Amino acid sequence: MKFEVTILGTNAAIPAYERYLSAQIVNVHDRIYMVDCGEGTQFQLNKYDIRRSRIHQIFISHLHGDHIYGLPGIITSYSLLGREKPLDIFAPKGLEEWINLTLKHSYAYLTFKVRFHTFDCDQSTLVFENESVEVWTIPLKHRIPTCGFLFKEKQQSRRIIPEQIVAHQIPVTAIKKIKQEGADFVTANGKVIPNDLLTLPAPVPRAYAYCSDTAYTESIIPIIQETDLLYHEATYLSLHEDQTLISLHSTAREAAKIAKLANVKQLLIGHFSSRYRDIDALREEAATIFPNTLLAKEGLVLEV
Ligand SMILES: [Zn+2]
Ligand SMILES: [Zn+2]
Repeated sequence: MKFEVTILGTNAAIPAYERYLSAQIVNVHDRIYMVDCGEGTQFQLNKYDIRRSRIHQIFISHLHGDHIYGLPGIITSYSLLGREKPLDIFAPKGLEEWINLTLKHSYAYLTFKVRFHTFDCDQSTLVFENESVEVWTIPLKHRIPTCGFLFKEKQQSRRIIPEQIVAHQIPVTAIKKIKQEGADFVTANGKVIPNDLLTLPAPVPRAYAYCSDTAYTESIIPIIQETDLLYHEATYLSLHEDQTLISLHSTAREAAKIAKLANVKQLLIGHFSSRYRDIDALREEAATIFPNTLLAKEGLVLEV
């Protein structure tokens, strides 16, 4: 089952050097979710052939412009295209007011409903779930209320072995019980085939954590512990650590320290300052502490 992340924007504050502003698509079992929506996100959706109409949930980390200025654009595009399905937007307080004011003064009329779901950033809460995923907030340390998001795949049922269906002539009606309830199968002549001969164990559920924007904070470690993939902002090199104290961002070294302490499998760094044209040094700095570090790049698709 698919669980992957597509990076649409990696730069902090302003677009530079072909790097766009924060936005990602998370695909869990072929349903897609948007995380942050910086200016230019619609261009990136077009470029990477991701259909807007597949998006029904958008998760917004915080209200700094580089994470939300793409939203009024995509909302009005939906309306111009005649969208009818509601759109759910999860965000800290204030987004609803800002969007409504923007729409009001641009005389935008919506053909669909935008449902706002406001969360506070004091503690990790479950904000969304369906049959395949849970989305939890990750309270971060930034200049304004900010939360990252933890996408936790739900436990799936055991996988049936196709050859066994044929071998024992198992009817379709019996398969659900075998997969989901661990039932054995009784053949026409009364022979019992135990479940563990018919099925393989369920895959281990995977998790993806998105942590941007944030200063170094170990408070997130219990929430992101052992995740398969961690996206952590790395706005600066340690050389410019003084900047992180003012802006409450992280250095590449700090992102790597968090990845190491949380024992994640892979670290993806992003939200790069425009002071760096070449970002390889950020990866090199992180890799000295956490070797399995990758640079986020527009268009990159990563399996969780
Ligand atoms: Zn930012
Ligand atoms: Zn910010």
